[in-house]
Amino acid sequence: MDAKIGLEVHVQLTALKTKLFCSCPSDYRDKPPNTNVCPVCLGMPGALPLLNERAIDMAISLCLALNGKVSEKVVFARKHYFYPDLPKGFQISQYTALGSSPVCIGGQVKINVDGKDKVIRIRRIQIEEDPGRLVWPQGFSSKYVLVDYNRSGIALMEIVTEPDMSSPKEARAFLEKLRSILEHLGICDCSLEGSMRADANVSVPGGERVEVKNIGSPKDVEKALTFEIVRQSTIIKQGGKVARETRHWDAGKRVTIASRSKEEEADYRYMPEPNIPPTLISPERVQRIRESLPELPDERARRFVREYGLSEYLAKVLTSSKALADTFEEVARAVGDYQRVANFLVVEYLRRVKEFNLELGEGLKAEHLKELFQLIDSGKITLNQAKEVVFPEMLLSGKPPSEIAKEKGLFVVRDEEKLREVIREVMEKNPKAVEDAKKSKKAINFLVGQVMKATRGKADPKLVRKLIEEMLSS
Ligand SMILES: [Zn+2]
Repeated sequence: MDAKIGLEVHVQLTALKTKLFCSCPSDYRDKPPNTNVCPVCLGMPGALPLLNERAIDMAISLCLALNGKVSEKVVFARKHYFYPDLPKGFQISQYTALGSSPVCIGGQVKINVDGKDKVIRIRRIQIEEDPGRLVWPQGFSSKYVLVDYNRSGIALMEIVTEPDMSSPKEARAFLEKLRSILEHLGICDCSLEGSMRADANVSVPGGERVEVKNIGSPKDVEKALTFEIVRQSTIIKQGGKVARETRHWDAGKRVTIASRSKEEEADYRYMPEPNIPPTLISPERVQRIRESLPELPDERARRFVREYGLSEYLAKVLTSSKALADTFEEVARAVGDYQRVANFLVVEYLRRVKEFNLELGEGLKAEHLKELFQLIDSGKITLNQAKEVVFPEMLLSGKPPSEIAKEKGLFVVRDEEKLREVIREVMEKNPKAVEDAKKSKKAINFLVGQVMKATRGKADPKLVRKLIEEMLSS
């Protein structure tokens, strides 16, 4: 059954070192609570916001990267609601009415799912401030809640799509592609915890629209939507009605839960923010940003085809994550065989991403991969050992491949003296096979097999055969 899915993505502009309207540091992670704060981001009466223009520049660069239309005049608006994480009682955001406009209107992101291209339309891109963070000291059943305002006032970019996605897989692919574009633009390090969060609107035929709020990562968006579609379809199949509601994703329990608050009925009483003058965006400013745009994923994919002779498919998969594309280029240059490295990454890495439930790009280390290829090429480990044992362990433990191979006793035995010893033992145990082997070349296979067994597959079978033949004829 085809679902209808739209996303609202909140991205922290991690490249900004300060908050959106004050000069407090924007790096709030692992900091003591309520230390990166000032009267502006605490919402003290009389404190005036001052817009960080670089945030607007960053939104313009994303707008241009997605082929959207940059607004000529940007107006901020107050979005009122009452919540402990919002000391002012309103959030400074943008709004498409009352003469207020977001930075960007329209645009598109091209995704590729199972080899098929699809275009997801963007409705708008806007800049707004993040609220503070609520902390439940004993989980959601806590008797009290703490508030940390270090995150209050941090610059967020909100990207709203049209409901163009029809499966959880497409939603994940959209977020991965968006993340790749943001990272190529250098405006968000989306690997930081909480730097990319999504609200997903989803409905199935015959049902109402349900909003799932605050999902922390692309892989969780796929899971939350899969859960929701099954839940909604089951209700309809049983003759029930899907309620129009807001739900939350519980990543631990892997279920969506109905919210107690009726957030969808809130009236935000939008009004233009009187303390920030409208920002006029000149064509010269847009042109300057357009000229400074770096190479973006689609362009990079075309270059991979042109420069490295990769298939379009491999190029698209590799550039769907900046970490993956960067790793590929670095390792392929060192190994000197682009096709082989591309195939290894696309086949082996994607297989493990699925198996180990990783985010695309997670766990990759170019240095370690280069070493892995050296181990294979110098015959120290076999390709099969690399694929089945060493590489998965690299992703899980982050250890270098040589350490893993050593720990697991994988190194191929090339020491001829040692091998001769093993062969002598095998021959003593199998006198009949030795007699047969003297007469027939085929019977040697049995002895080779026994030696491989005795070395637990760590010997080089070609070398073993050569040594056995030598020993039989001497
Ligand atoms: Zn501040």
